Amino acid sequence: MKITYDDILNLVTLARELDSKILLQPILPLGRAKVLLKDKLIIKLNKDKTINLVNKFIETAIKAYEIYPDGIFIHAPPALIARYGLKYLKMAHRKCPYKNMLAVLWDGSIAPCAIGISHPETIIGNIKKDSIIDIWLHPKGYLAMRYVKPEDFIGVCSRCIFNKYCAGFCIAYSYETYGDYKFSNPYCQLMYDADLFPREFLL
Ligand code: SF4
Repeated sequence: MKITYDDILNLVTLARELDSKILLQPILPLGRAKVLLKDKLIIKLNKDKTINLVNKFIETAIKAYEIYPDGIFIHAPPALIARYGLKYLKMAHRKCPYKNMLAVLWDGSIAPCAIGISHPETIIGNIKKDSIIDIWLHPKGYLAMRYVKPEDFIGVCSRCIFNKYCAGFCIAYSYETYGDYKFSNPYCQLMYDADLFPREFLL
């Protein structure tokens, strides 16, 4: 079934009537979602289409906020939300807690997050033979991302006023796109390269 943006707004109205909350979250083509990509249930877009879709997604969230300000949350980088007005930051979903988490995959592999499903090189052990405590206390490989500082980011994130809070938003998506978790968030970088990133949020 094809869902339109108007359907999302109808859902928001229903959520308000039911006193429920809604989180609007785009599917990123990494981890488990790569299976959807392979099965053509989601498609990879070119740069222009990605920019249009990101804008449309956030603009729909803003319309949803106007309907139900206390019930809408959105998974998108804060700078891209705040360019429509600082009040909309209220719906920014929490940042990714990547510095404080580990994932155990179906076969016992330990990875920083679901990125381990599509990128086995990021796997740092297996619970069948390794100690999670050791891995946690002596991070190596991809897990060293825990120590990335905002100023270590490459690209627009290094100049963004939100970087201490946001920290690249989803560095697994950066890794998936650029092959390096220190690269900036692909959505923000695309906007920046197209001269569409809000200048007022740059240092
Ligand atoms: S540029 Fe980077 S730090 Fe700034 S909002 Fe986007 S992802 Fe977050």
